Parts: sequence; structure tokens; C-alpha cells
Amino acid sequence: MIVKPRIRGFICTTAHPTGCAAHVSEQVNYVNEMTPISSGEFKNVLVLGCSGGYGLASRIVASFGCGANTLGVSFEKAPSETKTGSQGWYNNAAFEKQAKAAGLYAKTMDGDAFSDAMRAQVLDTIRADMGKIDLVVYSLASPVRQHPKSGVLHRSSIKPLGEVLSIKTVHVEKGEVSEVNLEPATAEETENTVTVMGGEDWEFWMQALIDADLLAPQAKTVAYTYIGSELTWPIYWEGTLGRAKSDLDRASQAIGENLAAIGGDSRVAVLKAIVSQASSAIPVVPLYVALLFKAMKDQGLHEDCIAHIHRLFATQLKSGADMRLDDAGRIRVDDLELSQPVQDIVKQRWPEVTTENLSELGDLAGFREDFLKIFGFGIDGVDYEAPVSPLSIEPQA
Ligand code: NAD
Repeated sequence: MIVKPRIRGFICTTAHPTGCAAHVSEQVNYVNEMTPISSGEFKNVLVLGCSGGYGLASRIVASFGCGANTLGVSFEKAPSETKTGSQGWYNNAAFEKQAKAAGLYAKTMDGDAFSDAMRAQVLDTIRADMGKIDLVVYSLASPVRQHPKSGVLHRSSIKPLGEVLSIKTVHVEKGEVSEVNLEPATAEETENTVTVMGGEDWEFWMQALIDADLLAPQAKTVAYTYIGSELTWPIYWEGTLGRAKSDLDRASQAIGENLAAIGGDSRVAVLKAIVSQASSAIPVVPLYVALLFKAMKDQGLHEDCIAHIHRLFATQLKSGADMRLDDAGRIRVDDLELSQPVQDIVKQRWPEVTTENLSELGDLAGFREDFLKIFGFGIDGVDYEAPVSPLSIEPQA
């Protein structure tokens, strides 16, 4: 079949099999062209949320930059004869193919990472295939979590706290800038968001690995967070998601204490804003990202997902690194996004931006390009007019 993007709001319901594979190859090639980060430090890496965005980039950097064997966990929709699967399904297949070709172990478990059943399967696989884990990357982003103990299905809300928030946003498809009124979250919605996106699940994973004695001496773990600029704080850092991310800070502290016995380390890493399936769903963020990308590109400071994670591993996670930590002990690699020359421009343009001048002041085109790339569209060298099988990442003969 010929696969075209079918966009519904902030999701695309189709994914291009060979396009996704080419997108993975682009990222692998980027890492292969850089100086190797380390060899032997990260032998076995577990990536929770491995199929897209920052988790996939982490898996690629761990494997191709550090020579690591990787076990990944993600939640995917498999394709059928007539329907494409989720982008992550193709990304995982493409990653495994490339890693194996490079002589690296790569296995992906498809299912609910929040469940005890998945944890048990992962522990069994580590025991059988890998030995001990040196690094756990926690990169899950989900709107729902079924609690493994209570069975209750919790839903997150992306809302401000306290009062109605009147703020600028953009309709990504139409390119229209407007003011929206966002209702504040109830206490229950806030609590549910913390249950879904907070640190409890990360703690469950780390405790299970400790209890099973599957962590190597000096093992590290990192979970990803976003703080961003004051412009987005009312909807992000000071909203429900920020509450959840603060809980990640709490969890990191607790995990760090539990890892002390093996000389391990637990960190939250503050990353820059990129376009991902998860971030596209947050109101206001696409407008901020459009202005940010323009300022960062104009100043030669732009990093895409893979470049950013490569810098995280090469300058922060590697042993002996001169770590850039904030007062809360978080790793800060959002320094370029938050640098004064970038933020000065973004903050100056924020009140000025309108539907009419958005293409001049911002880079909505770059946002849209990155959005399509998530689903394997708009990748150089891919023939989008050629028929492909939804069941395979190989081009059709
Ligand atoms: P993403 O949507 O690209 O990836 C999320 C991953 O989680 C996917 O692999 C998905 O399959 C997996 N997942 C979701 N629910 C799952 C479940 N129940 N079981 C197993 N796997 C599941 O997201 P992303 O933007 O890369 O976000 C990853 C992390 O990085 C998040 O913690 C996010 O807050 C953080 N972060 C993102 C940005 C950004 O701009 N996108 C910036 C800073 C930090």
C-alpha cells in the first residue's frame, strides 16, 4: 500500500514503515559519525520507553556510542495486512536490525511497562541473556497508568493549577495563533497525573532490579524531565505535569539512597524541548517550541533529539564527567535552551507573535517537519510514492 500521513489533532494515525526505519538509520549514522563515547562502561542498558523520542535516542546512543547491549520496553500497536502499526513498532524493528548487524544484543519487550507482569518478564530476560544492568534509562511518557497493586486505571491531565489560565497557543495544522482559557485541575486530577507521570513506577523498577540482584556495581539510572522557560511554566512546571515531575525528583532521591550500597547513582536529567508524540499533546508548547527553534537555529544552538542525548551521555553520564548539576542534584543539559540570548529573543517575540507574523518570528515549519518525522514521513531518500507492506520495514521488491 501507499502510506500517507493521516493527522488527527496532535496524533498521526499512520506510520511509514520504511520511513521510520530511515529515521532510525539517520540517528544511528549521527552517532556513528561522532567520536565513540565510552567502551565497556555501559555493557548492559535497560531502556523503559525505548521506541520513540528521547528513549529511542538513548538506546541508539547507548548501543552505537557506548557499545552497549540493550533491552527495551515499549507499548506498541502491531500492524496488520491493511493497517500500519505504531511508529514505535517500526522503530523497534529497525533498531534491532541495526544493532544486531553491529554485533550488539538488542531485544524489545512490547507491553505495559507499568505492570508487574512486564517487570517479571524483563527480570527473567536480563537474568537469562544479559547478566547485570549498568544503566537504566527511564523515558516513559504515557497518558494513562494502570496501577499494578490496586488495578485502578489512572489518567493524567495536562492542566494549570489554581485558576483559569489565559495563554497564547497555536493550532499546529492551521497555523493560527490564539488565546485559550485553560481550566485548572481538580485535586483528584493532579493526584492522578502524579500517579501516571511521577516517580513511583521508576522506584518500582529500580527496587525490583535491586531485589533480584540484577544491577552491576556502580549502576546508574536516569529519568527525564522538563522544566523549560517561565513562558510555559503556568501550563507545565507549575501545572499538573510539573507536580508529577517534582515527584520524579523525590523518587530520584529515594532511589539514590537505595543504590548507595552498590555505589550506584540516580539522577533526573533536565532535557530541552523537542517535538515528540508526548510533547505535541501539551497546549502552548508547540507555539513556544516554534519560537524556540527559530531562535536556536538562528544562533547555531539547535540540537535535535539524537544530538541532545548524545551530549547527555558524552558529557554527563559517562564516568568522570564534569557534571552540570543544579541545587536539586539534577543534571542540566537544557542550558542552551535556557541561555540568555535564546530566551531574550523568545520572550521578546512571545507577546508580538500573531498568525500573520508566525512564519517570520517562529519556526512552525520546523515543528511540523519534526512532527511528521516521528511517524516516518519527510525523511530524505524515502520514496513515499512506492508501495510498502505495513508488515515490514523492508522496501517492497
Ligand atoms: P515519546 O512519546 O516519544 O516516548 C514515550 C515512550 O514511552 C514510547 O516508547 C512509548 O511506547 C513508551 N510508553 C508509553 N506508555 C507505555 C507503557 N504503558 N508501557 C511501555 N511503554 C510505554 O516521549 P518523549 O517526549 O521522548 O518523552 C520521554 C521522557 O522525556 C518523558 O519523561 C518526558 O517528560 C521527557 N522529556 C520530554 C521532552 C520533550 O520535549 N519531548 C523534554 C524534556 C523531557
